[in-house]
Amino acid sequence: MLIVMDHSAQDCDVEQVKLAVREMGLRPEPIPGSERTAIGVLGNQGYIDDATIRNLSGVREVIHVSKPYKLVSRDFHPQPTVVRVGAVCIGDGHAPVMMAGPCSVESDVQMMASAEAVKQAGAQILRGGAFKPRTGPHSFQGMGVDGLKLLRQAGDAVQMPVVTEVMRIGQLDDVCRYADLLQIGARNMQNFDLLKEVGKLDFPVLLKRGMSATIEEFLAAAEYILAEGNSQVILCERGIRTFERATRNTLDLSVVPLVRQLSHLPIIVDPSHATGVRSLVPVMAKSALVAGAHGLMVEVHHDPARALCDGAQSLDGADFKQLMAELDGLHRYLDSAAMKTIA
Ligand code: PEP
Ligand code: MN
Repeated sequence: MLIVMDHSAQDCDVEQVKLAVREMGLRPEPIPGSERTAIGVLGNQGYIDDATIRNLSGVREVIHVSKPYKLVSRDFHPQPTVVRVGAVCIGDGHAPVMMAGPCSVESDVQMMASAEAVKQAGAQILRGGAFKPRTGPHSFQGMGVDGLKLLRQAGDAVQMPVVTEVMRIGQLDDVCRYADLLQIGARNMQNFDLLKEVGKLDFPVLLKRGMSATIEEFLAAAEYILAEGNSQVILCERGIRTFERATRNTLDLSVVPLVRQLSHLPIIVDPSHATGVRSLVPVMAKSALVAGAHGLMVEVHHDPARALCDGAQSLDGADFKQLMAELDGLHRYLDSAAMKTIA
């Protein structure tokens, strides 16, 4: 951290800052300049909370040199993390993993039909929301624990591990009982109590990017989970809120190669919530693979026209099968020696 003083700052201001830095257990190193003084802060192991320094008299600016995340960063942990969900491995050195299924669990028949469709097309992990974070309270809120049971039943029937969202700490016991991968949705990316609680578990977590979160905030959210001891975290880009309304969100694909540079954690892409438009899902799914995603999460419903949630962005079984065939071809191409030299 670097503290830049005002050019009108007095010697006593500089002394106050040095004292505050020492009180934080750190070492102040003044760097006098012709116009103003800067004070380097040495000895920190990670991000420093600068609230007290920022408010001291004569302080103009506090510049962070180290990041608010350390455990998720590649500097700290150069080897890529591979997360296991059942027998499925997600991360470097493994083929991209497809998580697919309906937005919400709606019924026994719907869940089974959707599960069979995604299994038959070659998906590895079955999704289905039982606790749904809907924008309005009058929309379908999910089936709750009954939905978890139907998801588990469908997963067992087609022999696929299952992923589902947990919205609050009180749901964790139930969700862990029935799921293989815990999803923290975009709206809860900064629910720090929930992040800390899943951090205490020995259970893989899929952390979706908040719709207004910067990449730094996204990685800092993951840091909460790792800081409690759980490093089985998969990141998921699902689009961010921009001025554009033609698509539901704006897919920020550059986050994929950037996160791969910054962090050792695997990252997947959800083109369904990112676009909100069925016809855009396949091409953005393929683009995500080109960008280096370790996997995808795609909404698939056996009868999208009748879906209780997100039908407009859901693929049907046939479209999904076609997408899987195209992704397979693309993966083979990307995996070829020629493409590896570009990556
Ligand atoms: C979901 O995956 O069901 C979901 C609600 O997504 P998000 O949290 O990204 O909006
Ligand atoms: Mn959805």
